Amino acid sequence: MSDPLGVPVPDGREAKPVIELRDVVRTYPGSPPVHALRGIDLVVRQGEHLSIVGPSGSGKSTLLHTLGLLDRPTSGTYRLGGVETTELGDAQRAVLRGSRIGFVFQSFHLLPHRTVEENVMLAELYHRPPAGTSRSSRRKRALAVLDRVGMGHRAGFRPVRLSGGERQRVAIARALLTEPEILLCDEPTGNLDTDNTAVILDLFDELREQGVTLLVITHDGEVSRRAGRSVRINDGVLRAERG
Ligand code: ADP
Repeated sequence: MSDPLGVPVPDGREAKPVIELRDVVRTYPGSPPVHALRGIDLVVRQGEHLSIVGPSGSGKSTLLHTLGLLDRPTSGTYRLGGVETTELGDAQRAVLRGSRIGFVFQSFHLLPHRTVEENVMLAELYHRPPAGTSRSSRRKRALAVLDRVGMGHRAGFRPVRLSGGERQRVAIARALLTEPEILLCDEPTGNLDTDNTAVILDLFDELREQGVTLLVITHDGEVSRRAGRSVRINDGVLRAERG
């Protein structure tokens, strides 16, 4: 059984929407103003793997920043996990972002002088762990999430000793540490060769099966094909491409 978006659904019920954009407009002021997003409607359900494709300058980064609560729409609404976000203050948005969204970037952003394990543990510091969270329990969580991406055996390595694919797996582990429902990925395989890209795509499949919702901006046709659904953005307008 699957819903019209191709998402497997238990007992005929639709998977719940985790992202709902309605008529989202983002205009950068200036003369002339830039209409980066022009009335975007998008619903993404839990456990979906969606790819977002489009040429340079089409609005992909603006959309990603909006979805990641790093930018606010000029108009329109954005519900994240059922919470309307556009009226929230910055602090509330930061809490929501920290609890629900993990970010994955093209260039990994690992600290070179820290071990793999430390790089993952540092993610939690940014999200202010509850007082009393011991280093040993943080370390345990970091190792668990490294095991989840098949990198537990490299916990003591520095990033420079890892392949690109391994670095990206560590970056994905870091993004998963706070157990977000959604991973926002910006060209996650842009720095990887075909073999390493395949490993990351297999990992995406596993994460999706575990219920993680994946949104992946990509230029790579193969990466886009592996997503369950694909949308294309052109000049700030979003259209369904596949699925
Ligand atoms: P993409 O990620 O697809 O390359 P962007 O979202 O970065 O596209 O940009 C969409 C449009 O908005 C482009 O025309 C870009 O020049 C413009 N733009 C992006 N950021 C800003 C900004 N801070 N101020 C003004 N214009 C911007």
